[in-house]
Amino acid sequence: MTDTAKQPTTQYDVIVVGGGMVGAALAALLGQAGVAVALLDARPAPLPADEVGIGLPAMRVSALTPVSQRLLEGLGAWSWMAARRVTPYRFMQVWDGEGSGEVRFSAEQAGVPLLGHIVENDVVLAALERRLDELPSVSVQLGTRVTGLHEGGEVVLEDGRRLAAPLVVAADGAGSPLREMAGIPVHTRDTGHVAVVTTVHNAREHGGVARQVFLASGPLAFLPLTVAGDARYCSIVWSTSPAEAARLTALSPAALGRELEAAFESRLGAVEVVDRALAVPLTQRHAERYVLPGFALVGDAAHSIHPLAGQGVNLGLMDVAVLAEELLAARRRGIALGEPRMLQRYARRRRGDNAAMLALMDGFRLLFGTRHPALTLLRNLGLSGVDRLTPVKRLLMQQAIGRRGTLPLACR
Ligand SMILES: Cc1cc2nc3c(=O)[nH]c(=O)nc-3n(C[C@H](O)[C@H](O)[C@H](O)COP(=O)(O)OP(=O)(O)OC[C@H]3O[C@@H](n4cnc5c(N)ncnc54)[C@H](O)[C@@H]3O)c2cc1C
Repeated sequence: MTDTAKQPTTQYDVIVVGGGMVGAALAALLGQAGVAVALLDARPAPLPADEVGIGLPAMRVSALTPVSQRLLEGLGAWSWMAARRVTPYRFMQVWDGEGSGEVRFSAEQAGVPLLGHIVENDVVLAALERRLDELPSVSVQLGTRVTGLHEGGEVVLEDGRRLAAPLVVAADGAGSPLREMAGIPVHTRDTGHVAVVTTVHNAREHGGVARQVFLASGPLAFLPLTVAGDARYCSIVWSTSPAEAARLTALSPAALGRELEAAFESRLGAVEVVDRALAVPLTQRHAERYVLPGFALVGDAAHSIHPLAGQGVNLGLMDVAVLAEELLAARRRGIALGEPRMLQRYARRRRGDNAAMLALMDGFRLLFGTRHPALTLLRNLGLSGVDRLTPVKRLLMQQAIGRRGTLPLACR
């Protein structure tokens, strides 16, 4: 992904700091329209595309909504991803491990062919990197750490170089150094959870169902993965207390497999852990503002969310679609790309959706992270109630498939 044929310049329309899935998607959307973009990332090298999505699945995966799929199709990234490895799911099953409530959704009930796909993050990123290589107006600069931000859209690199553009976009992840350099405060909520992630091979096939059980300690998800036609793989996200996560990650694979099978009520039979188990701390963050003149936050730099609803990167991709739509409209009208009112419009269009999703995750966590008898009764009534109440269930399904509000053009 690092440019060799393309001539690097220090004069850009937009500098995107952070070439994760969100920053790479923004650079590709703008690059497709001929905007001169510098995409800077501290990681040293592109992903080895010929090794990605082959063999054992990578540990970090995302549930991508059909809306995110459409955005990636528009970017010309999806066909490579689909040829490499994506696993569609048509059903969702969520139940209360402490009670009797259970909700099931199907794509048919939601009136869509699929609820989404489970995709390794590396597959998404490698596809975007391939696409970026084809875009002459995008200069991808890896091994490039940004260490300073000055007013007037100037960024300072670790090696002392300076780059400038009318707009600097921070897509530099949940810890966002750029957000801090810009002095934007962030509301932080410790979820009390650490996610244990790994990959398993089950005795029974997943059947294209994304499953999640709410345990007293937190939610445990078995996300379906099909590997070379074998539909018995799942990616695990087990959100639990830090002490429990430390205990689980120290277990032998055989012992962890037994714990997973018991916690998951043997719904997919015996569980074999086929990768190491990694602990990822989970903190919910929401930046107090998304924009300043000539500066914008997107993706996890603006909001990081508990993974229990699998929404983080989907929200980030919607930020990107909306910001690109505003920027391209401004460019057509001859408005400067760092213009505050245009950036405010982006912030207004995205903040409400993101805040609503963060609040929903808080509610879920509080409701399910308790042993209080009244709340236990409420959540059992709630879950089975949700399964009967078609309009409420439909709303939840719409949320799951990412159909909220007005879609930006890139996702229609
Ligand atoms: C356990 C778990 C499960 C999840 N499951 C889902 C799911 O099912 N569905 C979903 O939608 N989301 C999910 N998410 C959330 C999703 O992973 C994130 O929302 C997404 O990865 C954020 O992408 P990003 O591009 O914004 O940030 P990142 O992927 O963090 O990328 C940031 C980039 O910025 C670069 N960078 C940082 N600082 C600098 C600097 N100073 N200079 C240059 N470069 C810099 C970094 O090198 C990095 O490449 C999950 C998250 C977790 C933890």
